[in-house]
Amino acid sequence: MAQSSPKAAMLEQSAWAALDAGKAQAAEQDFRDAITLDPKNARLHLGLGTAAFVLRRDADAKTALEQALALAPGLTRARAQLAQVAKRQGDLPEAIRLYEVVASEMPGDAGVRDTLERWQREADLHGRMRLAVGDFFTVSFEGQEDAGMAAQALDSLNRAYWRICEIFGAFPPRSVPIVLYSGEQFRDITRSPQWAAAAFDGIIRVPMRGAGEKGDDLDRVLAHEFAHALIRSLATRNLPTWLNEGLASVLESDSLGWAEDRVAKTARVPSLTMLAGSFSKLSGADAQVAYAASALAARRLLDEAGGAAVANLLRDLGEGVDFEAAFLHRIQKSFGDFQASLQP
Ligand SMILES: [Zn+2]
Repeated sequence: MAQSSPKAAMLEQSAWAALDAGKAQAAEQDFRDAITLDPKNARLHLGLGTAAFVLRRDADAKTALEQALALAPGLTRARAQLAQVAKRQGDLPEAIRLYEVVASEMPGDAGVRDTLERWQREADLHGRMRLAVGDFFTVSFEGQEDAGMAAQALDSLNRAYWRICEIFGAFPPRSVPIVLYSGEQFRDITRSPQWAAAAFDGIIRVPMRGAGEKGDDLDRVLAHEFAHALIRSLATRNLPTWLNEGLASVLESDSLGWAEDRVAKTARVPSLTMLAGSFSKLSGADAQVAYAASALAARRLLDEAGGAAVANLLRDLGEGVDFEAAFLHRIQKSFGDFQASLQP
């Protein structure tokens, strides 16, 4: 065996460090450079696949991870990462098949067993579900008693579809899957924070069964999640959370009174720069402020620049254009000036 190149080893080290530091783009480049020096090193392909996964380029991640496993069939981390790719691509049976192997390779790992069992429960449940198919949506639901609820959801989604697509001048390229859960199933499968009313991860997941008659709420929740689906079709990555959640929150309903009240009652409203990262770890109260501030900023953006310009901003970001440059080009104002204009 030839010694692996010292240059490749250095690149590998800096690449993993970059990945840990959240710099996936830099990590990806370092892994690529290392692979040209040491192409048969499975760990480098694992790293490349992990970076692509973080960047939400699932097809690239899959190719790199399969390459890692072809070189080192016993590389469990690559198999576990590949399972996550399959899960996110909506191929739950393949994700489970891979994770069963991972669990057999790591028999003592409670986290692995936990994830596998959760995925199996999701597959069992979806296997029992029925499907209502509309023009733009498919709704999965569990029993005959939920057929009425599914029809109601389809009506509500159709209204949201026309209203929101017209604002952006854009339409999702394919029909959007919705799954209706009980509250308990929803928490189990999505692991969402307690305050979450629904979730979108390629599938709109809504806790509905047992929710009772909450027509307005249902419209609001479904419109919010459909907005996420449309936004994702314009940009799969690189969106600051305030922009993604802010747009979805504005598009829920006509009134932002709740957001104005919330911000008025808050002494220190975080800046948009502080709201760029995930909201999922926030407490209920902090999350409310984060959503409210994001919604008001997004409304200002839509009012000033229009939906088509915002859609173009999303497309640019998804293609990897630098945020400040894309903002200036599409909104015709620097992001700094925009942020300053939000101060009361
Ligand atoms: Zn949301």
